[in-house]
Amino acid sequence: MVPIALGDLIQTKKKHPCGSDRWRITRTGADVKLRCEGCGRVIMLERGEFEKRYKKTIEHAEDDHDAV
Ligand SMILES: [Zn+2]
Repeated sequence: MVPIALGDLIQTKKKHPCGSDRWRITRTGADVKLRCEGCGRVIMLERGEFEKRYKKTIEHAEDDHDAV
């Protein structure tokens, strides 16, 4: 399972039509909500679908107080 947290900036394998491949996580859970960093469009993906498109995490959210 891809480890993601609210506020993370991630990269997808395919680019959005606007040319950006970077997305901000605005909701996690069974469905993942993403906001395109290029055009601001918000999309919602099922977790499995999201993981197929996920490439890597570019930037972790700052509130990583749970990290050890
Ligand atoms: Zn876009």
